[in-house]
Amino acid sequence: MATGDYYEILGVKRDASPDDLKKAFRQLARKYHPDLNKGSKEAEEKFKEINEAYQVLSDPQKKAQYDQVGHAEFRPGDHASYKPPSYDDLFRDFGLGDIFDAFSGGSRTTRRRAGADLRYDLEISLTDAFNGTKNTVAVPHQSECPSCHGTGAQPGSMRDCPTCRGTGEVRSSRNVGGRSMINIAACPDCGGSGRIIDKPCMTCQGRGVLQKTRRIEITIPRGVEDGQFLRIAGEGEPGENHGPPGDLYAVVHVKKHNIFERQGADLYTTAMVGLPTPLLGGEISVPTLTGSALLKIPRGTQSHTLFRLRGQGMPSRNSDNRGDLLVKVIVKIPVTLTKKQEALMKEAFIGGPG
Ligand SMILES: [Zn+2]
Ligand SMILES: [Zn+2]
Repeated sequence: MATGDYYEILGVKRDASPDDLKKAFRQLARKYHPDLNKGSKEAEEKFKEINEAYQVLSDPQKKAQYDQVGHAEFRPGDHASYKPPSYDDLFRDFGLGDIFDAFSGGSRTTRRRAGADLRYDLEISLTDAFNGTKNTVAVPHQSECPSCHGTGAQPGSMRDCPTCRGTGEVRSSRNVGGRSMINIAACPDCGGSGRIIDKPCMTCQGRGVLQKTRRIEITIPRGVEDGQFLRIAGEGEPGENHGPPGDLYAVVHVKKHNIFERQGADLYTTAMVGLPTPLLGGEISVPTLTGSALLKIPRGTQSHTLFRLRGQGMPSRNSDNRGDLLVKVIVKIPVTLTKKQEALMKEAFIGGPG
């Protein structure tokens, strides 16, 4: 027998309603059920206690007796040979509808459910990622049918389901090992909605929702990175029964640029220079995302040298800083020389013409 007080084991007050008891039991069973804690002796013991507590407190007769005599005096019956029902069986007995209730904390018919999140992929240029931009997207979404206000029925053609009397649930009790067990399941005739529709709404064909397109302007911040998610709160699918709407996630894809390659906040590019520039030193103009910048090429610069132009890269996401532009300078070697150039070269570098 469990050593502690049953109410304490289930973590409920002494005046807890049957629903509170059930909810508390299911929450704990979800955590400690042996099927979910293979090999854990501790979880098994804990589950046995939880189960024992619930079996007593959920039975009005036993509960009354327990409340009267107190924990120390109470004899719950033989639990030594008790083998817990499997996790599947346990929750099948409670019925699918009930599991939903356990998650949402409400009854089926008034269940609030958050709307689904939507994902939208959008492609922008590197220049747009540099400057930041706004992008209007057409998002398909479902909106409540205005003709039937989401009920799916023509006016006056909806009535309570006679099978479940509008509750959406059917209950049956059965006897398990001397204890009566109430079985709750979603009503098979109304699918758990509690309502029967005689004439479906013509506008939405009884679905209660219409497929629509909504235009949403998305602000894309400067410095946005490829693959970044932008969350636009509340612009997903509407919730059910006044549940909160989902969110819209815009996934940004930044197109490859033809001359700049991005690595984090830095940009990489290459610039070709003729032979005289590195030989004698000079300045070249290199393109940037905002125009161009001057790059000093010192005398003696080797081909494929990487130069850094500070602050000419991408803006950083959360600061005013900018990355750098790294320019790889490639020296073009002339393929042909005029007679004069050849003579001068020989004179300059080899010593004497011919
Ligand atoms: Zn029904
Ligand atoms: Zn409708």
